[in-house]
Amino acid sequence: MQVDLHAKTEEIAFNAEECIRPAFERIERNALVNTNKVLKAFRENRVSESCFAGTTGYGYDDQGRDTLDRIYADVFGAEDALVRVQFVNGTHAISSALYGVLRPGDTLCCTTGLPYDTIRGIIGIDGKTHPGNLRFYGIDSFAVPLLSDGSPDEISIAAAVKQPAVRAALIQRSRGYDNRPALSVETIARLIDIIHKANPDVLTVVDNCYGEFTETVEPAAYGADLMAGSLIKNPGGGLAMAGGYVAGKKEWVESTAYRLTVPGIGRECGSSLGQNRSLYQGFFLAPHIVSQALKTGLFAAAMMHALGFRVDPLPEDERHDIIQTVIFGNPEPMLKFISCIQYSSPVDAFVTPEPWAMPGYDDAVVMAAGTFIQGSSIELSADGPMRAPYTAYLQGGLTYESGKIGILSAAEKILEWKAGGIV
Ligand SMILES: *Cc1c(COP(=O)(O)O)cnc(C)c1O
Repeated sequence: MQVDLHAKTEEIAFNAEECIRPAFERIERNALVNTNKVLKAFRENRVSESCFAGTTGYGYDDQGRDTLDRIYADVFGAEDALVRVQFVNGTHAISSALYGVLRPGDTLCCTTGLPYDTIRGIIGIDGKTHPGNLRFYGIDSFAVPLLSDGSPDEISIAAAVKQPAVRAALIQRSRGYDNRPALSVETIARLIDIIHKANPDVLTVVDNCYGEFTETVEPAAYGADLMAGSLIKNPGGGLAMAGGYVAGKKEWVESTAYRLTVPGIGRECGSSLGQNRSLYQGFFLAPHIVSQALKTGLFAAAMMHALGFRVDPLPEDERHDIIQTVIFGNPEPMLKFISCIQYSSPVDAFVTPEPWAMPGYDDAVVMAAGTFIQGSSIELSADGPMRAPYTAYLQGGLTYESGKIGILSAAEKILEWKAGGIV
């Protein structure tokens, strides 16, 4: 019997959307609360056309830049913030924060297992010294492994930070490429509390990538000394062309600024290069854009789960970042999925992603990223290493409609493959 796979996909999609409707309502409520916070900060900081003018050269008296710092601080519940296009990526913002707080002889405790891939070499947590990394400057580091369920080991963390040399504790909110859940802000708040109680001299630094606006409060509001992230992820709202931010205690934001530029100049220099308008408009859009990305991930979870694949988070789980993993168990459906995401992208839709040996990775990596901004992962993107169990990491989606279209086309291709048809 000939099965109409298009009709079948539509039917699964209809049922999936019915299931996730209550979660959609939660996501919309958060977007409303967060939009209100952003509007309040714009109003109280008197945003006007003059903020968008920006500066060139040294960038002295860049009123728009300095006002945006205030807005980020207010929205994130932080004393201070530094939002700069001169941060080349999230890794740069996070590492600037670490260099800002650590001094030779100090030790860094990574509280959520091994940190994100790009941070490892910067810290030198593998015991290796590279010119200019933290270990090179005599800053030691170690990681407290996660518990078997992927949650932080609070007892071991409390014991670890009591060591007198420990000066800073790194907390990573999102899963990155690990197989563990993202941390809720509530969990991060508890960790900050445990760390500060065990040793009040330890500074807490949160890698906040992918977490911004997934909840209605951020770690800085719970006393994180610093948190940092990328503007081509959540807070850039899809419009920021580059950049990063740090937010937290005034003293440590200041010393991060000295690291980003130079001591004595810090935040006074750094022209906004015509980007102010996009940064403001992107931050204004960010709560909504994050809601679209969350809905896209949730729909992918429900669809792929219905097709029999393991997904994480599950459709019913609460979400604390915008990453959705799908475990395919087989290279073919994974490649089909990633190709369909590319095919449904607004840019480079005509190319077919192929696995390639990316520098720094042991296995070939396949990637779909048909984005307006190179490497932007608040835009719909999917990637993963070509090794068992064949896990794809899906994130972003500027509009739920475009995300849904990508996932529908992937679902249909996978159904065809399952039915043994010619694709
Ligand atoms: C994306 C990400 C970073 C930073 O990556 P960049 O590509 O340098 O912006 C750091 N940590 C985590 C957990 C991330 O997801």
